[in-house]
Amino acid sequence: MKVLKFGGSSVGTPERIEHIVQILKSYYANGDAFAVVFSAFGGVTNQLIEMAELAARGDDSYLQVFEVFCDRHQSVVNHLFDDNAVEFSKSLQENHEVLKNLLYGIYLVREASSRTMDYVLSFGERNSAFIITRVMQQAGIPCSYLDARKIIKTDKQFGNAKVDFTKTYKKVQSYFTEHPEVQVVTGFIASAKGGLTSTLGRGGSDYTASILAHGLNAEQIEIWTDVDGVLTADPRKVTESFTIPTMTYGEAMEMSHFGAKVIYPPTLQPALQKNIPLYIKNTFNPDFEGTLVSAESDPQGAAVKGISSIDQISLLTVSGGGMFGVPGIAGRLFSALANANVNIILITQGSSEHSISFAVQPMVAELSKEVVDEEFAYEIERGAIQGVKVENDLAVVAIIGENMRLRPGISGRMFEALGKNGINAVAIAQGSSELNISVVVDGENETKALNALHEAFFLADKQQLHVYMVGVGLIGSTLIQQIQQQYAYLYDHQRMDVRVVGLANSRKMHIDTNGIDLANWKESLVGSDREMSMPAFIAEMKKANLNNTIFIDNTASDKVASFYETILDGSISISTPNKIATSSSYLMYQRLKRIAEKRGVQFMYETNVGAGLPVINSLNDLIHSGDQLHRIEGVLSGSLSFIFNTFSIEDRTFSEIVLEAQAKGYTEPDPRIDLNGFDVRRKLIILAREAGLALEEEHVVINPVLPEALRNAESVEAFFELLPSFNEHFESIKKSALSEGKVLRMIALLEGEQASLGLQAVDSDHPFYSLSGSDNMIVFYTERYHERPLVIRGPGAGAEVTAAGVFAEIIRIGNYLS
Ligand code: ADP
Ligand code: ASP
Ligand code: MG
Repeated sequence: MKVLKFGGSSVGTPERIEHIVQILKSYYANGDAFAVVFSAFGGVTNQLIEMAELAARGDDSYLQVFEVFCDRHQSVVNHLFDDNAVEFSKSLQENHEVLKNLLYGIYLVREASSRTMDYVLSFGERNSAFIITRVMQQAGIPCSYLDARKIIKTDKQFGNAKVDFTKTYKKVQSYFTEHPEVQVVTGFIASAKGGLTSTLGRGGSDYTASILAHGLNAEQIEIWTDVDGVLTADPRKVTESFTIPTMTYGEAMEMSHFGAKVIYPPTLQPALQKNIPLYIKNTFNPDFEGTLVSAESDPQGAAVKGISSIDQISLLTVSGGGMFGVPGIAGRLFSALANANVNIILITQGSSEHSISFAVQPMVAELSKEVVDEEFAYEIERGAIQGVKVENDLAVVAIIGENMRLRPGISGRMFEALGKNGINAVAIAQGSSELNISVVVDGENETKALNALHEAFFLADKQQLHVYMVGVGLIGSTLIQQIQQQYAYLYDHQRMDVRVVGLANSRKMHIDTNGIDLANWKESLVGSDREMSMPAFIAEMKKANLNNTIFIDNTASDKVASFYETILDGSISISTPNKIATSSSYLMYQRLKRIAEKRGVQFMYETNVGAGLPVINSLNDLIHSGDQLHRIEGVLSGSLSFIFNTFSIEDRTFSEIVLEAQAKGYTEPDPRIDLNGFDVRRKLIILAREAGLALEEEHVVINPVLPEALRNAESVEAFFELLPSFNEHFESIKKSALSEGKVLRMIALLEGEQASLGLQAVDSDHPFYSLSGSDNMIVFYTERYHERPLVIRGPGAGAEVTAAGVFAEIIRIGNYLS
């Protein structure tokens, strides 16, 4: 004998019912003896609750919901019956009439007690099993309808009744002995003394199946649902979850207890007692094996089998100096709660015995507080106990697996994964059987925690990165192109799945947490109906709260930079070529670094200096490895390099070269921004700060390249008009350098605590002498590199290399997070 159970989602529509009947037909054809349990049609139980609640509030719109309910069932009959089923429809309608009267009664008295509610709810399962019995008969399966109220007996705890197993098993056995044909049984419902309708708790049809299986000594139970078995995590929250092929009763119990809705927790007990294997199968994928739950364990198997969560809990903490070393406090606490029928989800006690915390469902949080306050009224009055603190909007996430107890380091990995994603553990508990480790986290971090843990334990070699990018100009679009080109390589070689999930320019924003198709990113962004707003973009990024999130700022905007603080504070890493945040006030620079450190996230800006060249990292390596910095000299501006390199070797006027540099886009539209040295100053400030100096803008001495008249010219046009009249001035500087065998370079210098920049003539011994084009060069003179300096040279500007620098940081952040 097998007991099969089909859930609401499997019987949601006429097509699905037909599909199931096909599955059942093959069982029948095989000669398998079976009984089958059905839940109400998907969503119907909720609908019944809604009707009753509306009626109880005196809202007559319950009638509309009632009509929908009737039509839904009648339409299944109309679809699936091959005759016009007049008699059948009549009895269905008579039954609906009973429900209607019942609801009217609720409407009149304005009250739906849990006892009445159970009776209302029974119409869902009764309808579905009744209708499907007829469809099965029509398909040639001899069977009869069985109202489970006849065989399952419970107490009078309506809404969540306790089964009287002795009576129930006896009734099950005698009923099935007298009725050997296939029984089509209503799930979820039962009856209490006096024939009153009771229910087994939401999701209780699974339980009905295992109670029958136990009573009938069935050889197996099959729970047919809408997913491929028990998955490593809730698929609605963790898209990468996958089927667990086998698990023990204990593991399944923990998974379901910690929120895996796929099995109703009490289901496992009757199965376990008789060692009846339980299969979880997918109606939509019937050939797939699904999950087998049995007593068999596999000590060689994975340590963690699954991850689960309960999304709404309250944490109550009882604390006080008077609890230390006093026996019986915990006993009194939990007895008092048990007497008030409070179910406790999790308990933790600090080893100092100073406090005990426990988690309950939010709806009993207040009651629990009252119970505890009353129980310890004497101690509270004397100050031995401080009373009860209640924290709401929390969630519990748990990792589950029997083999955890055999392996060290599991909780280390768990907390590392949470920590790297900035998730704080509010409380921690480990079941004494070591079957689960559970952590209480902020409710808003639940999904993120699940994904971070799932990645750490199941996708050890695979990692999803979620990139939000603001600025899709030259650098941004090049970066997108690079990510797109390199995606497959990164996935194949590093199992890194880089997903761009948010994009924005100054006008529009587009967010898709499943990943934006980079082949069409422009169309998606341009076509987006969402206007860009930084606060909205950030708020959405924080709300999505994806694990491994990285924010990229490809703009030069101070507005975007002003959000770094809140981004880092939200445990999101940043990589950016935007120099504003790092080179504005030292206080800001320091604050950002401190927040990143506090939140355990990365703030990276290697591309602030020398584009893709490894300048900041090299400087950090030198300092962290204990070298002493003496001096840094740098040609840090591609634009200025181009101008002075060309001017030094070519026989053209200074004004011609500046004009060309501007025309080629090597300089800012106003070349004075480059020539005045402001951009180089920012870079120098950043280098100095990395070297440990609290340098501000005003500490940098600029020896101006441009004579005052040029600096003060009213407009760019006026500047260019005036520039030729200074050609002589520049020519003479160049000549005097040349006469000494030197060339002109715009050099930034940091020596001790002195920072300066200006035009210098350097001779052929100097590293800068040989610079060409728009190259940057940074020279570090240190204790270790004192005879010959450490030199970094290469193109220090350009979209390709800058984007590559940011890309490298994305990968670096990914490696850090993994
Ligand atoms: P049924 O109507 O068949 O009883 P339920 O909705 O009660 O189905 O349970 C199945 C659902 O449980 C799945 O659709 C899935 O969304 C959810 N679920 C939550 N956690 C898990 C998990 N770990 N494995 C599989 N399903 C899960
Ligand atoms: N129909 C009931 C519910 O929705 C029982 C079940 O589906 O198992 O809770
Ligand atoms: Mg269910």
